Amino acid sequence: MELGFTNPFRRWRPKGSMYSLKCSQCGNGFLSSYSLEAPICGSCMQAAKSLDSTIDYDIQCTTCGNKGVIYSKKQCHACYFGLGNKDGEEK
Ligand SMILES: [Zn+2]
Ligand SMILES: [Zn+2]
Repeated sequence: MELGFTNPFRRWRPKGSMYSLKCSQCGNGFLSSYSLEAPICGSCMQAAKSLDSTIDYDIQCTTCGNKGVIYSKKQCHACYFGLGNKDGEEK
């Protein structure tokens, strides 16, 4: 019997331990391979990303060096939320 698609769980292979986090915005639980300082789920992150007013473009991210960090933080959105150094082609 043939399935017309690859098993999505095949790609889902966390390298390290997973953290069970609770979104600091909406309270939804979610999993991440990063222990985040300010846990945020996917949908809230999308909302946060669209808030340009929370970006301080004068400051460099201490992790990746990109200009534009979260206001009052020292990291850009990608690094702060743990998306900075993904080595997959997930998009
Ligand atoms: Zn959320
Ligand atoms: Zn960064």
